[in-house]
Amino acid sequence: MDSLTCDTARRLLDPSLDGELEATTQLAFDAHLAACAACREARAGRLALIEGVKSQTRRHTAPDGLRQRLALQLAAAAPPPPSTALPSRRRAWLTGGAWASSVAALAASLMLFLATPGQQDSLDRDLLNAHLRSLVPDHLTDVQSTDQHTVKPWFNGRLPLSPPVPNLAGDGFPLVGGRLDYLDQRPAAALVYRHARHIINLFVWPAAGTAAQPPHLDSRNGYNLLQWSKDGMAYAAVSDLNRPELEGFQRLWEKSAVDNDAPAPR
Ligand SMILES: [Zn+2]
Repeated sequence: MDSLTCDTARRLLDPSLDGELEATTQLAFDAHLAACAACREARAGRLALIEGVKSQTRRHTAPDGLRQRLALQLAAAAPPPPSTALPSRRRAWLTGGAWASSVAALAASLMLFLATPGQQDSLDRDLLNAHLRSLVPDHLTDVQSTDQHTVKPWFNGRLPLSPPVPNLAGDGFPLVGGRLDYLDQRPAAALVYRHARHIINLFVWPAAGTAAQPPHLDSRNGYNLLQWSKDGMAYAAVSDLNRPELEGFQRLWEKSAVDNDAPAPR
């Protein structure tokens, strides 16, 4: 019997392709796919994207920068090395209400799967993968506009939140557009900014019940990930920008977001 909604199936798509689902969840996912042509098509599209990335890397026809990014993407998609113990502060960032609200719609078995150790590591991987996927040609934005009044309303009805979309063009960080992405198997807003030739993805997703956390920086495969949370929302800025520039962007963004308006879960 098909017990998954299409939304849930879409969230399980990437983990299923990565072989990360536990058996009962994989069975439910397979059952849904057998019954749902739209989700089968989504899966085929994702497979085609992965194949396309691999063949582009094999042919070595892409410009140097792109080839590097694609190679990194493949590396990032590989199983992670055994992770060392995480400082409790970082783990605490994702416990409690954040999980409770994100998995409300999912089955209890899936909840067990999600609430395993290594959540920060897995989130870092999700963030970096999402950033690298966005750098594949034509995947950067769903709505391409330098106008915050075009980008912000685009998320209405697509996400259970309305992120602030400050335009920081005057400070050297022009808005490029926005995109719907998936992190922690839930939808997230991705706001895309540019700084010189660097792309910054700013991910925003609901994290109700999570204590506010000041920004903390992780580096992974040469990319910087700056994550913080505030007012029931989680934020992550991911870029190949160097640390001081990314931190400068974060401060500007947060200051302008407060002036702009606060994000409100709907
Ligand atoms: Zn479906």
